[in-house]
Amino acid sequence: APVFRARGLTKVYRMGEVEVHALRGVDLDLFPGEFVVLLGPSGSGKSTLLNILGGLDAPTGGEVWYVDHCLTGADDRALTQFRREHVGFVFQFYNLIPSLTARENVAIVTDLAERPMRPEEALDRVGLGDRLDHFPAQMSGGEQQRVAIARAIAKRPAVLLCDEPTGALDSSTGIRVLETLEQVNAELGTTTVVITHNAGIGAMAHRVLYLADGRIVREVRPPRRTPAR
Ligand code: ADP
Ligand code: ADP
Repeated sequence: APVFRARGLTKVYRMGEVEVHALRGVDLDLFPGEFVVLLGPSGSGKSTLLNILGGLDAPTGGEVWYVDHCLTGADDRALTQFRREHVGFVFQFYNLIPSLTARENVAIVTDLAERPMRPEEALDRVGLGDRLDHFPAQMSGGEQQRVAIARAIAKRPAVLLCDEPTGALDSSTGIRVLETLEQVNAELGTTTVVITHNAGIGAMAHRVLYLADGRIVREVRPPRRTPAR
């Protein structure tokens, strides 16, 4: 059974007289353990779709289900609980707390989780086992993003949603961050959705979905990637 099931999703932003149709009817099933990449031009609706899946935004029309929970129509409290229990987010900017070490930045969230990973394990999984006591300012952009990934996976979410995690990084550093996400996906089985413009991503994904003008216009399953578990 899918982790996410979306049907007929539409999103209209209204600003006074102006209407922006960000999504124009998206149907999507995401399966457990899948690593899915969203590609498409700026403004095609990628962030809007990711935010709706993550319960950060509500669609104007259509329905989204997470396993057997209908997210559409859920109140803010239910959505907050959904995000806290099931979703890890990674964004373009790392949002680390400058006065805390890598370990402490991760520990902040594990304190709230039911069945957390130790911060040391989370940092080890992203290749930062030797940076536990470093502060953000002592780390490169790629390392800081990997701390943010460690923070996102430490509560063992079923789903990891990543909105341009490589957007602030040069392309080779970006590739390393994407490889980290691929490794986490393979080792933990975390269902992962990534928006990126990094050209290296195609070969890593189980599925690449191309968005244009608020619709999924093409779907590609790259060869050679091991199947989702
Ligand atoms: P990207 O192409 O990286 O998604 P955008 O500039 O389209 O970047 O959007 C970044 C964020 O800014 C979006 O997640 C959205 O919340 C907000 N945003 C985008 N366009 C508008 C807009 N026209 N008015 C208000 N907020 C917007
Ligand atoms: P992408 O992530 O593919 O760049 P977005 O989902 O950010 O696309 O945006 C899709 C469309 O919706 C764009 O035209 C964008 O300007 C608009 N948009 C996104 N967020 C907002 C917002 N908060 N208010 C108004 N318009 C928005």
